Amino acid sequence: MTQPAYGSCFCRAVSVTARRPLGRPVNCHCGECRRLSGAAFSTWLTAPREQVVIGNPEGLTCFHPTANLQRAFCKTCGSHVFTLDARLPKVFGFPAGLFEGEVIDPPAKDYFLEDRAAWHRAPD
Ligand SMILES: [Zn+2]
Ligand SMILES: [Zn+2]
Repeated sequence: MTQPAYGSCFCRAVSVTARRPLGRPVNCHCGECRRLSGAAFSTWLTAPREQVVIGNPEGLTCFHPTANLQRAFCKTCGSHVFTLDARLPKVFGFPAGLFEGEVIDPPAKDYFLEDRAAWHRAPD
């Protein structure tokens, strides 16, 4: 059987175990994703909720930037662990950087390239 994808927050207090396959990631260059991650863009992937187990969910705190969005962060280290979107009730959204090993496919698309950080070079 295929090994599940395993990821965690920076301090490893909260983990994510997801049965594969996972959704193909996308890079999002919008301002919200930039501020959320602190990086030039965020690489996101989705996984069906029934394929996912969150380890130590009590270790999370949630922020609701809009009525539809719930972003979960580790209480200890502050890492963004997942986002839930009420408009997409069947999936978790994960920052792809949580996951270890070669379980993530290369990103399929770049969204909001027109909003990218002025200092970030567009992909070739
Ligand atoms: Zn943590
Ligand atoms: Zn975005």
